[in-house]
Amino acid sequence: MHNVTDHLRAMYEDTPVLVAAYDPFDRLRYANRAFRGAFFIEPAEEPFWPELMRRNFHAGRGTVIRAPDFEEWLVSTLSRRGKAGFRAFETDLADGRWLWMTETVDAEGWMLCIASDITSLRAEDRAVRQDRDFAIKAAQTDDLTGIANRRYVTTRIEDMLGQAAADGSTAGSVAVLDLDNFKYINDRYGHHVGDVVLRDFARRIQAQVRRTDCFGRVGGEEFILVLPGTSAAQAALLIERMLTVIRRSRPLSDRPEFGYTFSAGVSETLPDDSVASLYTRADKALYAAKLAGRNQLVTDSPASEPTPRQA
Ligand code: GH3
Ligand code: MG
Ligand code: MG
Repeated sequence: MHNVTDHLRAMYEDTPVLVAAYDPFDRLRYANRAFRGAFFIEPAEEPFWPELMRRNFHAGRGTVIRAPDFEEWLVSTLSRRGKAGFRAFETDLADGRWLWMTETVDAEGWMLCIASDITSLRAEDRAVRQDRDFAIKAAQTDDLTGIANRRYVTTRIEDMLGQAAADGSTAGSVAVLDLDNFKYINDRYGHHVGDVVLRDFARRIQAQVRRTDCFGRVGGEEFILVLPGTSAAQAALLIERMLTVIRRSRPLSDRPEFGYTFSAGVSETLPDDSVASLYTRADKALYAAKLAGRNQLVTDSPASEPTPRQA
């Protein structure tokens, strides 16, 4: 063997370090022997990450998940998984081992995971470090829906704009999603039903977003999608699909006829955009969608209707 790639592959197979790669759809496309052993994966298997976590959780093996409801844990974790370019954290396995897990994500959404066994390292402060990680997670999470909150989404928009400023690329798009006539839903069916609808919405939209997208709740019944590397036209296709998914949703088991809708405004980044200027254009487009009758998407078009830039 003279080829570096062949050597790397052979060494990966023998090293105790865990190595894996997931594609942009979060499907496992490579895992070395150490990784397969820790997470109970057959050699030729290519499971999706949520499915892998779910089956290990129910079998009481693999990653220790300290949450009473697995599906809630999954929604919350997916809203932040792979959204930043690099992340590192301590995690423990049901067999008692502790891992230092790193996740590196490229521009197309492929994720490289490398983890080392740190069971014997700095064990005394581990509880403190885990508490800190939980606190960071809580500071990034919306309590009601479990998805990302305004603070986290704002950081993702800043990252997207910063990336574009650094390499001169078109950064992407932002969409504001707002539930239609939500005040009426609350008034007619009660606040609890309103909350159920918000959770249903968060779950269904989260299931539609790609790895590099970020979805979060930024206010009462207002949500934001951050779509790096995505034109407004591409964003519109994605959001049309979401409109259909939500139109079909029937979230109340005791009222099988009950449905709801949302409206959305999309804006694409311009040179010198700030979070505020980008958001303002998306919000204006949202307002136009509401005026036009709701349950639809409007795309901001700076070419035909120039909007003043803000600093
Ligand atoms: P539009 O279609 O124009 O968006 O109308 P709307 O009724 O959705 O908008 P409006 O802004 O008038 O009302 C939003 C309502 O959302 C008002 C508030 O009571 C409700 N709300 C805000 N946060 C929550 C929440 O956490 N839970 C519930 N159940 N309701 C909330
Ligand atoms: Mg609304
Ligand atoms: Mg609103």
